[in-house]
Amino acid sequence: MTEHGIEPFDLSSLQTTGHFPAVRLRRLRYHPAIRSLVRGTRVDASQLILPIFVRAGRGIHQEISAMPGHAQWSIDLLADEVREIAKLGIGGVLLFGIPEIKDACGSDSMDDHGIIPQAIRVCKDVAPELLVVTDVCFCEYTDHGHCGALRELGGRIDVDNDMTLSMIARQSLAHARAGADLIAPSGMMDGMIGAIRRQLDDHGFEHLPIMSYAAKYASSFYGPFREAAESAPQHGDRRSYQMDPASDPGQAMREIEMDIAEGADMIMVKPALPYLDIVRMAKDRFPGLPLAAYNVSGEYSMIKAAAQNGWLDEKRAAMESLISVARAGASIIITYWAKDFVRWTR
Ligand SMILES: [Zn+2]
Repeated sequence: MTEHGIEPFDLSSLQTTGHFPAVRLRRLRYHPAIRSLVRGTRVDASQLILPIFVRAGRGIHQEISAMPGHAQWSIDLLADEVREIAKLGIGGVLLFGIPEIKDACGSDSMDDHGIIPQAIRVCKDVAPELLVVTDVCFCEYTDHGHCGALRELGGRIDVDNDMTLSMIARQSLAHARAGADLIAPSGMMDGMIGAIRRQLDDHGFEHLPIMSYAAKYASSFYGPFREAAESAPQHGDRRSYQMDPASDPGQAMREIEMDIAEGADMIMVKPALPYLDIVRMAKDRFPGLPLAAYNVSGEYSMIKAAAQNGWLDEKRAAMESLISVARAGASIIITYWAKDFVRWTR
């Protein structure tokens, strides 16, 4: 006993082993503000990119039945939609086009007056500050629905890689000339990044960045998109160019390495949720490289459908999806929920 009547602390009562009951992880969860304070993953609207479908014609706002809340827009109606999107503070828009006429080599997509160059000009007219990303591929523009020019190869009709590279280069240049801010090739052709880089550099667009769909899988989750973009292959499938879902993850890393070597400024994994292991692996393997993941149409529609049936809470399931993609390592998320996200979080 000291002169103040205070006993020394009973050290034997201290729990110093790092275990319960000294440690109680729930202390970090009781108070909502503490939960928010200690969050390690945050998603911000500026990280999200919203896909938009643009089509030839006038006065068209055609709802996409498999993707409630999304539509095809004709060029004349696009301005109002873009103005509204620009106010939301999202990271940008990703344009997909459905031309008036499709042909064997997707001519519309390489034309300076094609559907996408027209759409880019509308975006830049009404919202010059909005980032405009353009998908570079051929499946929406060819009458056969494949992602390039077809040729007989070893007794089978397949996409001719090197012929398609010339076409990809031309399409990219048309987007650049119209004012695109970021070129995003999605066709999974070998050498596509190098071909685009060279074409852009040769024409004074050395400042224009490329976001490569570097690891894009032949996924069933693209189903609703094919209605949206009217791009289903008329015969065969895309498994000779898109990656096999069961392939060794190292193959995805090789795809990414190759695209970086050819000059990709950003890389993408597509789809997102079924390939979060690939996202994490890419994040660990290539630190410092901006990494995007595409939360594809099927990932959107399955939650929408479940929500419409009352089986899931759409907002909570969507937010959890986006958080999981960010937590896996993607700093850019392409998602059909970009507008809803802003509404839900404001
Ligand atoms: Zn394609």
